Amino acid sequence: AAASEGLTNYSVLSALWIIPPPLRAICQADDTRIQGFLYPGHVSAIIGLEPYRFIAEEHGLPGAVTGFEPVDILLSVSSICDQKLAGKPDVTNTYTRVVRPDGNPRARRLMDEHLELKDARWRGLGRIPASGLRFREHLAPFDAEKRFDLNVDREGEDLPGCRCGDVLKGKITPPECPLYGETCRPDAPYGPCMVSFEGACLAYYKYKTRI
Ligand code: SF4
Repeated sequence: AAASEGLTNYSVLSALWIIPPPLRAICQADDTRIQGFLYPGHVSAIIGLEPYRFIAEEHGLPGAVTGFEPVDILLSVSSICDQKLAGKPDVTNTYTRVVRPDGNPRARRLMDEHLELKDARWRGLGRIPASGLRFREHLAPFDAEKRFDLNVDREGEDLPGCRCGDVLKGKITPPECPLYGETCRPDAPYGPCMVSFEGACLAYYKYKTRI
């Protein structure tokens, strides 16, 4: 629409990521202690179940596509426990009211038409090849990164003391990070896992007292 209207004062900065590559990185890490995955329902509504299949087949880890209500989480935890007990790692879907097994092919076609893969940096995991998305060339006039010569993917050191990577690999729970709740809080986040609504440390901080 912006192109057809000839807009010149409209630009977008892509901050889009692909989920399977970091999951593969976590599974392949020597020190990972993950025993099962709750797969994100909103992502799965687009990509479906197949992109997670390698986790069950190659790494023997169970998982379930999960919605965002408490009962969705419980259903998925139950499914993961069932898979564990049966010794049959799988990719189940407990969010069937939203997620179809093949996801949304039309949305994927549109994404493929306008976006292409790029290497990207992940919180606590570093740079992962082909794990991010940028605009294809025909959208360059609206690409803020190109238009304003931004370098959003520059290499950077992990924050000193932040143990986000260990949280993501299941090596520690968030409170085991010395900065949790003191230097790093939702109202004054220090590390990336405390920033976003989906961050493990923020979720732990927000809900731990309600369990
Ligand atoms: S509590 Fe903060 S500093 Fe510690 S791992 Fe989480 S995000 Fe990083």
